[in-house]
Formats: sequence, structure tokens, C-alpha cells
Amino acid sequence: MYDMSLTEEENLMIQSVKEFTQTTIAPAVKEIDISGEFPWDIVNKLIDLGLHAMPVPAEYGGPGLSSVMSAILAEELAKGCPGIATTVGANGLTSYPILLTGTEAQKKLYFDLLMSGKLAAFCLTEPNAGSDAGAVATTAVKEGGEYVLNGQKTFITNGGVAGVYTVFATQDKSKGIKGLSAFIVERDRPGISVGKEENKMGIRASNTTDVFLENVRIPADHLLGKEGEGFKIAMQTLDKARPIVGAISVGLSQAALDASIKYSKERQQFGKPICANQALQFMLADMAIQTEAARWLVHRACYLIDAGLPYGKESAIAKTFASDTAMKVTTDAVQIFGGYGYSRDYPIEKMMRDAKIMQIFEGTNQVQRMVIAGQLLR
Ligand SMILES: Cc1cc2nc3c(=O)[nH]c(=O)nc-3n(C[C@H](O)[C@H](O)[C@H](O)COP(=O)(O)OP(=O)(O)OC[C@H]3O[C@@H](n4cnc5c(N)ncnc54)[C@H](O)[C@@H]3O)c2cc1C
Repeated sequence: MYDMSLTEEENLMIQSVKEFTQTTIAPAVKEIDISGEFPWDIVNKLIDLGLHAMPVPAEYGGPGLSSVMSAILAEELAKGCPGIATTVGANGLTSYPILLTGTEAQKKLYFDLLMSGKLAAFCLTEPNAGSDAGAVATTAVKEGGEYVLNGQKTFITNGGVAGVYTVFATQDKSKGIKGLSAFIVERDRPGISVGKEENKMGIRASNTTDVFLENVRIPADHLLGKEGEGFKIAMQTLDKARPIVGAISVGLSQAALDASIKYSKERQQFGKPICANQALQFMLADMAIQTEAARWLVHRACYLIDAGLPYGKESAIAKTFASDTAMKVTTDAVQIFGGYGYSRDYPIEKMMRDAKIMQIFEGTNQVQRMVIAGQLLR
């Protein structure tokens, strides 16, 4: 049932992304983590390779990668820098509403922007609408042939660097989740402004900002799906995108495990390498078990997506297990490195900081458990 064998072309692509990560991303990571500056030079190279638009179909000029391939490449990028992998992942996340519900004209509009080198941002969260996404207060009022948008979006990945947004707004707050609609909004429309960049604990290479909409006018044909379908579109999008958060988490876990194996062979205490102690060997074995299990859950969810089979529960399971694993494995890696793991002179503490967000965004792991339990009890 699970045939996920790769073509020669796909294997070559994975190899070239591995090399890109090692030669271009890895050397720059420490400096970006300190400065928190958006790495346009690296992101522009990814744009040139088309990797900022992984799910965009070939007929719209994109690479048209399967979910399995997107996950494998996200894992490879995350081994170098989960922040850069998040930048790319957010572009995929933003593309799904268009892929799921866009008309031909909307696909052309949005994918042309993406393929001309623009980044994208998915604008759902607000100061008072986090886990409770149905509490969105940004309004969309229809005036003739236009919608007028007003509100504040918060914690938006790529918020300050995107050329196009998908925005979720309510047309009738009394209707709750049934009042939400989804829109394509180009960044250069009058009335859009961007707040200060979040000074984050981790994934500091990624850009996270507020996005303010003040009387932003968009043509009525920028509505995605039908009025009132916004919540459904947001949830379907997150179901599809969550395995990529899982894949980034797997990249983090694998990088932490690899570094721990190397260090434990080199570091000598009591006249022998620390890896000679069974206590550490068992830690390494557990890290490997959890990382492998996470990878297969992510690939299984992606396989189900590619096969057109139901994937909501499996996607939430993959995201939850992989991100909990990344937190555990990176914390254990700090332990294996001892005091050096706690030092910013070594790359390990950054992995632990980067891992934390994977348990929070695209729905916290508590929200994932609500999704999973909801499906189990349906
Ligand atoms: C770096 C970063 C990037 C982000 N990128 C984006 C983006 O691109 N687009 C976007 O729209 N959003 C984005 N977000 C927002 C992110 O999805 C939210 O932060 C997340 O969904 C949680 O919302 P909240 O922060 O308001 O926390 P809250 O919803 O206030 O939750 C606080 C705590 O309460 C728990 N909780 C809440 N309700 C329940 C419940 N019913 N049962 C059990 N526990 C509960 C949560 O799990 C959490 O532990 C990003 C956030 C960050 C930090």
C-alpha cells in the first residue's frame, strides 16, 4: 500500500538540496540567529531554485512537488536552519487555500505572484483569536464590487516580507465560524501596514510580524470559495500543511542526533569517550527510535494526502508526535553536550530553542490532541 519510492530525478533534487543546506545555509546560521535579520540572500537562491513554491503545479510554473517530496526537502532544509524551512513552509501553507478552492483566474493571479519571486503569508491569527480561530475579528464588508477589510493579524510568518497574503475575516461575527471568509490580498494594496518584527526565542531566520488592514479594498473576485467558507478553508489548509511542520521537526531531531553521536565519540571523560557509557548509548538509541518513528508518521500523512485518502487525523498525529519528539531529542542533545550544550558557542542550544515553536504554531499540540480525539470519538 505504501509505495513511496522516489524517481531518479527526485533523488537528484534531494541530493542538491542536501548540498545547498551544507554549503549555503549551514555556514550562515549562527550569524542569522544572533542578528535575527531575514536572510534574503539565501531565500533569493531558494526562490531561483523554485523551492519557495514546492506545491505549485507545473502548469502554473511551479515544481509541482508531491507532499512526500515537500516533506523530504523541508526536512533537509531544516537540518541546516528550521527558520529558513519555516519561511518556505509558510509559502506552501499560504498556497493551499488557493489550491483547494481557487478559480482558474485566482490560481493564475496568485501563482504568477509567487513564481515571479514573491513570498506569501497566511493571515489567520489575531491578538484575541489564537487557538480559537473562529474568534477572528477582522471584518470584511461587501461594498459593490469590492470587499473592504479592517483588522489586525498577529504572529504572521513572512508578514513583513510577503508580496501576497491569504486573509481570513468575518462578515458577521454573530455567525461565529460560519461568518468567516477567505481572501487573496496583494501586499501593495493601500491600507496594509506591517508591525515590528517579533524578537523570537528561536527560528530567528524567519520573519514574524503583525499585519494591519485599514480600509483595504480588494475586488470581489478575490474571495476564495464562497462567503462563509473561510473557517472550513483554514482548517482544510492546516490539515494539509501540518505534516510540513512535522518534517521540519524531523530535520531538527536528526540534526541533533547526528551532532550528539559525533560529540559523544569525541568527548572523553574518565579516560574514555562518553559514548562508552550505556546510559548515553540508550539515550542515543531512544533519540533514533523517536526520530525514525516521527519521520514515518510524517511520510505516511503525506502519502495519504498524495493518494487522495483521508488524512486529517494522521496529519495532526504526525505534527504532534514529530514536534514533541524534536523538543525531547534536542533537549537530550543539550544533555549529551553537558555544559557545552548550554553554551551559545555550540549549535545545540539553538536547536532546542528552534524546536519549541513546532509544538505551538499551526495549532498547538493541545489543539492537535483536540482534533485527534474529535475524530476518534466521532
Ligand atoms: C513564530 C510564530 C509564527 C506563527 N506564524 C503564523 C502564521 O503564519 N499565520 C497565522 O495565522 N498564525 C501564526 N502563528 C500563530 C500561532 O498559530 C498561534 O500562536 C497558535 O495557534 C496559538 O495561539 P495563541 O498564541 O493565541 O495561544 P492561545 O490560543 O492563547 O493558547 C495558550 C495556551 O492555551 C492552550 N489552549 C487554548 N485553548 C485550549 C483548549 N481548548 N484546550 C486545551 N488547551 C488550550 C494552548 O494550547 C496554549 O498552550 C505563529 C505563531 C508564532 C509564535
